[in-house]
This record gives sequence, structure tokens and C-alpha cells, in this order.
Amino acid sequence: MIKRILVTGGAGFLGSHLCERLVDLGHDVVCLDNFFTSQKTNVAHLLGRPNFDLIRHDITSPIWLEVDEIYNLACPAAPGHYQFNPIKTMKTSVLGMINMLGMARRCKAKVLQASTSEVYGDPEVHPQVESYRGNVNPIGIRACYDEGKRAAETLMMDYHRSNGINIRIVRIFNTYGPRMHPFDGRVVSNFIRQALTGEDLTIFGNGDQTRSFCFRDDLVEGLIRMMHASDSFTGPCNLGNPDEFTVRELAELVLELTGSKSKIVSLPLPADDPVRRRPDITLAKTNLDWQPMVPLKEGLRRTIEWFRSVNISHYRPPTP
Ligand code: NAD
Ligand code: UDP
Repeated sequence: MIKRILVTGGAGFLGSHLCERLVDLGHDVVCLDNFFTSQKTNVAHLLGRPNFDLIRHDITSPIWLEVDEIYNLACPAAPGHYQFNPIKTMKTSVLGMINMLGMARRCKAKVLQASTSEVYGDPEVHPQVESYRGNVNPIGIRACYDEGKRAAETLMMDYHRSNGINIRIVRIFNTYGPRMHPFDGRVVSNFIRQALTGEDLTIFGNGDQTRSFCFRDDLVEGLIRMMHASDSFTGPCNLGNPDEFTVRELAELVLELTGSKSKIVSLPLPADDPVRRRPDITLAKTNLDWQPMVPLKEGLRRTIEWFRSVNISHYRPPTP
């Protein structure tokens, strides 16, 4: 059945791929974005499609649309981006979530919230299961993002319990792929950009910290499956690739795949940087029949190819 679907943050890295998939499936897609961390070029190829609309809007302000489903992805996701204006980041998660839940209540729409592994903070439980309540520093430099996303989950659950809103919460773990902002400061985009331009690869700390990297196609498939899951399955549900790598291993793999002669250097570790991160995806496997299909090496190859194909000087840094 064709649905009217709103994707907030739809011009971003993940949002633009989600829009693409939903348009191809024949749905009526509204992409809403304020272009804080993205550019119109990410969705320019969709502009001529009759079932695609683009709205420049900031979700901290209310908006009246008629929709059946809402994917709420609007929020800066890279540490450098969300720390640029931390108060705005918190407003985006909290006021944005309230506005989207208000719309869902009025339209009787289903709403999916793109939450994050950051709700686990620097985890004491490994791998992270959804029942783990996390170890977030509420006054640290990552809190604007972590606590904003935690508050958004609280709002989702309270609107669900009080108003019967049909909700889905996914906790996304580090995801990478084509259309990542080359200057977002995330580890995958930094390493690939640095390797291709002959700069040193900057490892923060000793590089022993781990992350589990999911390719964007796998992740977008997980988002769509979650939206279509049984109504009794609200989540939270982890979505991520359980293959865990140290940051040093990632740097070495990027050097191997790019054939770059760049050196690896060490810089100070930012405050509150989580030491280990790996999702337990039992819930996603059981409820969504979902698991990642693209191994890191293959996903990196496709991402490197994209970085080679774009003129990275066209990407602007974020503006207030
Ligand atoms: P992104 O920065 O590329 O996309 C976010 C989009 O939201 C951008 O297009 C940005 O312009 C838009 N946006 C930001 N604030 C807005 C506002 N107030 N109003 C309207 N639009 C706004 O990041 P991404 O990696 O595509 O992340 C998408 C979502 O997934 C985010 O909510 C993020 O927190 C979540 N997530 C991503 C990852 C990951 O590894 N990529 C991990 C965990 C969670
Ligand atoms: N990191 C790094 N070099 C960089 C960028 C990041 O060593 O140039 C490290 C960072 O300190 C963290 C990991 O890589 O330990 C992942 O960082 P990212 O910002 O991609 O995501 P997050 O910390 O939000 O998981």
C-alpha cells in the first residue's frame, strides 16, 4: 500500500538513502531538512520524481503535514557537528521529538525515532543489550547529544503510554557509507579523506578503543523493517554490525584499501570517548529477521570509491 511518509533529516547521510529507498518503493515521500549538516545535492537526483517533495524547515518549530509514517532522523550525528551548537542539538532532539509526536497524534501516524548507541554512554556492559541502562556523563561535552536522544526516547514511550501513539525506537550504532559528510570529523570519513589526500591519519588516544561499523544499506534496510514490524514491538531495538574493530585496525584497513602512503599519528583522546562499543542484535534478528550483510572491507571499498568520485571541497562546514 502506498503511504505518505515524512523523513526528517531526509537530506542527510542516512536520510537521503532512506528517501531514495522509499521513493523507489512508490511511496509519497516528504523530505524535511534545515541543511545544517547536509546539502541539497544529496537528494537533487530525487527532485524530479513525482512522489518526492523537499521542504526546508527546522523541526524545532511545529509544522502541519498529513502523513501516515514519520521517520525522525533530524539531528546532527557527528561529535564535531553536535558540539558546534550543543543547546541547539538538545532542542532538536527534544522540541523536534515533541513536534513530531504531536503530528503523529493528530494524523494517527506511526513514528520511528533514530536513537543511538550513545544512550549507553561509555558502557560497562559488553556487548550492549537494549535492557542495559547506560553510563552517560550528563554534564560532559557529549551530553547534548546523548541526553537529548535519551529524552527523546522518554517522550516516545510517554506519548505511547498516554496517547497510544504507534512508536518504534531504534538505537543505531556507528554507520558509514557514501554521502557521509567528508568533514564531519567521524572516524571513517576522517581516515578516508586523510588517506586520499596524503594527510596523516589521526588516531585519537592509543587507538585501542573499539567501534562496530555498519554499512548504510544494511542500516536503511533495518529502519524500514522496524517500521513494518509488529505493532507490539516498539523497541528500543539495536541496529548495527556486531563485528568489532579497534580504531587502529580501521586506520590500517583504510591505508591498505586506498593504497595510501599516509602515516598514522596519535592525537589526544577527546573527553568521555567510549572505550568499547558493540551491539547485541538478538532482538533485531528475532523481531525483524535482520542482520548486516556487508562486511567492513566491502563497505569501505564502496565508500572509498564514492569519496574518490566527489569534489570534497564543495562540502561546507556546518553553520548556525
Ligand atoms: P547527518 O548529519 O548526515 O543527518 C542529519 C540530518 O538532519 C542532516 O541533513 C541535518 O541537516 C538535519 N538536521 C539537523 N538538525 C535539524 C533540525 N533542527 N531540523 C531539520 N533538520 C535538521 O547524520 P546521519 O548520520 O545521517 O544521522 C541521521 C540520524 O541517525 C540522526 O538522528 C543520528 O542521530 C542518527 N544516528 C546516526 C548514526 C550514524 O552512525 N550515522 C549513529 C547513531 C544515530
Ligand atoms: N577517532 C579517531 N580519529 C579521528 C576521528 C575519530 O581516532 O580522526 C576516534 C574517536 O575518538 C572514537 C572513534 O574514533 O574513539 C569513533 O569516533 P566517531 O566520531 O566516528 O564516532 P563516535 O565516537 O560517536 O562513536
